[in-house]
Amino acid sequence: MNLVNMLEKGGPACETKTLGNYIWDDLPDPDKWADCVHCGMCLEACPTYQETGEEQHSPRGRVYLIQAVAEGKIDINEAFSKPVFDCLDCRACETACPADVQVGGLIEEARGQIRQAMPLKGFKGTVSKTVLNGIFPNKKRLNMLGGLMRFYQKSGMQTIARKTGVLNVMPNHMKDMEAILPEVGKPVLGRYPEEVPAEGKAKERVGMLTGCVMDIMFSDVNEATIRVLNHNGFEVGLPKQQGCCGALHIHAGDRKTGKELAKRNIEAFKDFDKVLVNAAGCGCALQEYDELFRNDPEMLPLAEEFSEKIEDVSKFLYDNDFKRPKSAINTKITYHDACHLAHGQGVRFEPRQLLQEIPGVEMVDLPDADRCCGSAGIYNLTHPEMAGKLLDRKMDDIPDNVEMISMGNPGCMLQIAMGVKKHGRSEKVVHTIQLLDWAYEKDKQLLKS
Ligand code: SF4
Ligand code: SF4
Repeated sequence: MNLVNMLEKGGPACETKTLGNYIWDDLPDPDKWADCVHCGMCLEACPTYQETGEEQHSPRGRVYLIQAVAEGKIDINEAFSKPVFDCLDCRACETACPADVQVGGLIEEARGQIRQAMPLKGFKGTVSKTVLNGIFPNKKRLNMLGGLMRFYQKSGMQTIARKTGVLNVMPNHMKDMEAILPEVGKPVLGRYPEEVPAEGKAKERVGMLTGCVMDIMFSDVNEATIRVLNHNGFEVGLPKQQGCCGALHIHAGDRKTGKELAKRNIEAFKDFDKVLVNAAGCGCALQEYDELFRNDPEMLPLAEEFSEKIEDVSKFLYDNDFKRPKSAINTKITYHDACHLAHGQGVRFEPRQLLQEIPGVEMVDLPDADRCCGSAGIYNLTHPEMAGKLLDRKMDDIPDNVEMISMGNPGCMLQIAMGVKKHGRSEKVVHTIQLLDWAYEKDKQLLKS
């Protein structure tokens, strides 16, 4: 049965199509649920189902509900919105599903409809407008925020705030987050030249997404990524027009802002054949720009071409025969699979291999390494209770004889650093590329001496 009604609607949607009770712009894709055979093989993989045991909080339940709205059986209301927004968008169900149902994409499309039908109001609406719409898409404001955070850390205000207990007015999860704020450096974008030359003769020119959270909170990881690529003979392009990838907006159902940001990045990287990303969530979002523009025939070919260029930096280095470091980093390390790297991009082997091939590194397996840590974009802020449970499970799994925990996503780095602090542990949380960078830097020092 064709569920798409080709009705002329003078109503809220600018397009002429509706789909059952989906009447807003950017309709969900019926092909995404058509393959679900309700087998339930995704249930045990789903962290929210594992925690609640409730069908509506399982992938199969969510797919069923999303289809039911399209068939006009249920309305878009709070009872529908809750299970859809309680999903982590972690994609573990996609790895488990034998029918390749794209549950994550479907969830994002359904959220797009919910946010148009039920816009956020009151405090939540104000926070969303200020942070997601006011700060993230605007580089000047984002840099200003970074500057304020640096001032807060360096001026002594942070020490005073912590000592006086003034932070106790914040909700617990925000306080926990403040406690693990990394030292905020200066963003790479705008500070580095737009073309950073390779060491020696360049093999290839690649573009690099600097990201928003990554460049504010972890500019040291961005610096390390550039150094590692340069050392491997790659010239790194950092076009100034690039910006936030829009993942947080798309996850939150604001597909309109997501598309504006996507257009900016597509334009910024149009002269590059390859664009590398060191943040799993951003990489996954960029690889799915073609899905984002599914209903836009003008943008779709450009988005498809762009999505093809995107690659995770650890996979790129491994596939391009990265220079094996000679210097040792003597440490025991475990590796956490960021959901959007393992489930979203199918990258599991390459980052482990990069680590494995650094002399002195001893890898220790992490049980259920690809189970979500609870970060999930800003899920840990919007759903602190569920995120906290998942973080506790992750920390219980971290082997107790390791010195470092490595991963490839800034959200996971913050979340797991919070877990280390909360659980009174001492492991250092690192990005995979940093390990390689440290080994190369030792090699360079050795050559100089
Ligand atoms: S989403 Fe996939 S695994 Fe889950 S019930 Fe449907 S077909 Fe089965
Ligand atoms: S994306 Fe994650 S939380 Fe959402 S249904 Fe799939 S497994 Fe469950």
